[in-house]
Amino acid sequence: MSVTLESEVRFLRGVGERRMQNYRKLGVTTVGDLLRHIPRDYIDLRRAVTIRESTLGEKQAVRAVLGEKGPERMIRKGLTTHKLIGVDERDTITLTFFNGKYTVAGLEVGREYLFYGRVEGTLIRREMTNPAVYPGDAAGLSPVYPLTAGLTNRGIAKDAATALAALPEIPDPLPEWVREENHLCSLDRALRIIHRPPSWEAAERARRRLVFDELLTLSISFARVKKGRQGERTRPMEPVDLAPFRKALPFPLTGAQERAIREAAGDLCSQVPMNRLVQGDVGSGKTMVAAACCWFCYRNGRQSVLMAPTEILAEQHYQSLAPLLEPLGMRLGLLTGSCTPKEKRERKAALKQGEIDLMIGTHALITGDTLFRELGLVVTDEQHRFGVAQRMRLCGKGEDPNVLVMSATPIPRTMALIVYGDLELSVIDELPPGRQKIDTYFVGGDKRRRALNYVKKHLDAGYQGYIVCPLVEEDETGEGIPGLKAAVTYMEDLVKGPFAGYRVGLLHGKMKGKEKEAVMSAFAAGKLQLLVSTTVIEVGVDVPNAVIILIENAERFGLSQLHQLRGRVGRGKAKSCCILLSDAKGEAARERLRFMTSTGDGFAIAEYDLRTRGPGDFFGLRQHGLPQLRFADLAADSQVLAQTQRVAARLLAEDPELSSLPLLAADVERMTAMVSGGL
Ligand code: ADP
Ligand code: MG
Repeated sequence: MSVTLESEVRFLRGVGERRMQNYRKLGVTTVGDLLRHIPRDYIDLRRAVTIRESTLGEKQAVRAVLGEKGPERMIRKGLTTHKLIGVDERDTITLTFFNGKYTVAGLEVGREYLFYGRVEGTLIRREMTNPAVYPGDAAGLSPVYPLTAGLTNRGIAKDAATALAALPEIPDPLPEWVREENHLCSLDRALRIIHRPPSWEAAERARRRLVFDELLTLSISFARVKKGRQGERTRPMEPVDLAPFRKALPFPLTGAQERAIREAAGDLCSQVPMNRLVQGDVGSGKTMVAAACCWFCYRNGRQSVLMAPTEILAEQHYQSLAPLLEPLGMRLGLLTGSCTPKEKRERKAALKQGEIDLMIGTHALITGDTLFRELGLVVTDEQHRFGVAQRMRLCGKGEDPNVLVMSATPIPRTMALIVYGDLELSVIDELPPGRQKIDTYFVGGDKRRRALNYVKKHLDAGYQGYIVCPLVEEDETGEGIPGLKAAVTYMEDLVKGPFAGYRVGLLHGKMKGKEKEAVMSAFAAGKLQLLVSTTVIEVGVDVPNAVIILIENAERFGLSQLHQLRGRVGRGKAKSCCILLSDAKGEAARERLRFMTSTGDGFAIAEYDLRTRGPGDFFGLRQHGLPQLRFADLAADSQVLAQTQRVAARLLAEDPELSSLPLLAADVERMTAMVSGGL
């Protein structure tokens, strides 16, 4: 039987049951998966040097003959060393292997090898620790794969070579013109080259082809999901005098808020449905922009819906917007998971009758029986928390919904492009006046006591504060329960110990909606002095009298998340501060936390996060409803993305079903399944 891309890897010569299990751990089941398990880097063996030529402190390949193998020595239990000597015509190099029994056993005295690693020692003595070893005739770039126990770089490379030798030419899913116009090599060539490229240029060319295919299928999938919205026309709204709205506010709007409102109002009055992202740092006042738009709709006789990621946030929006908008004649409703069935029924009925002008809620809103009489605007707050699927479902509820999304997380334009389509952007780049910089301190665990006392001092002065611990968060699987216990114990210890006698509230994701609400509103009303919480308070919660936040195990959070948490304070006129408590010893973790103390700029923080943790992590691709990408890096491959967007549009215009491109259609099918997972 001949090998195909669909064959299981165990059909390859040299791959048995055991090896296949190991491959599984890497997500590799078929031969096609194996070929798409591409190197994350290469070791350049083209410039192998002699021992004398090697540069101290640098990683390089040194060519030497194995002169002698020392015996294995046990340093302590579980740790052995071997010392080997490599020689060339003039010099010797000491090669030390830790736990390298199998590697060493495979080496023959008298044979030539390339030893790759960092060269250390002195001018006259060279040594290398745990070098990667290649046969002396190895050349070109040697692949470095993502690995798992039982698999080595050499082993994977060998299996890939076996597969490629057994496979006939790999058919190409792309039509000729796409390849030509975008200067792409064939898929066959890309897969053959990428595992053993003759040069860096060749490797990059091969990678670019794979990135292109991946982003093209992604672009086509999104274009399809969005197709419902394309070419839509909406009934334009009439301009509205915003003076009564402004007059109802306790403060003048900032210039940036005014601009965002003007831009959104322009959209609402046009024929094309609004699709606008309002991006502004925490505390910049995005809610008022949304409120203005809802008022605008109301004056046009249309309903609005405001969707928040958590019940607490929904509740808070309701508490702050109702007193503002109801005196202006608007009728507001609240719909969350913790409404009783009767309340839900009544509120949904009122909504359908058109007796509610603005419905605020959580994704409990997105059930099939939530109907509007005339939905004009969908606002989603803290957008990054929602997947594409959820948003699409909500948008399906209006004939011609205008969409406004609000986010404090800077989303790069490229990313926004695929997730949201042709989206307009309003940036709120100005904070309301009188805000002060939040002083941020990074404090070691040995000073925990002092930090807690510092929190107390603020409470004694009549202010409120937060203590956040990262142990558990709204874990739907239930696996987090032991962690929850730890969180609750920690909280209770604080209440009984350092904060005995203070009015302390506890908040965590496993509490019932009603309980959470009660705690939150008591805190907002000033009845509680301290809120000890897991990260449920992360987004949006707004209590201006809270001026201090202490974050435990701060190293466990992403920087953008820390920034969000920090944004819970500094919302009033008083000086606020944030204490990052951490026992982290690692320099990288400490460096990250130190960076937090140096800036309050959310965009700078997001960038730093992106640089140090990689895009997959920071942008929370999964939270955006994007599948984990295999080849593409959305930050680095934005140009390719722009190309694939154009190609996707053309392909779909010519052949909406892609019936002439069955291979591509199948890839798109798979991608769509991943994209719209919960749709
Ligand atoms: P975010 O952009 O993080 O959602 P919010 O909308 O919650 O910010 O606003 C943060 C705080 O600033 C709220 O207490 C809000 O009432 C207040 N606020 C909003 N706009 C202004 C303004 N123009 N002047 C003064 N305070 C404002
Ligand atoms: Mg907000």
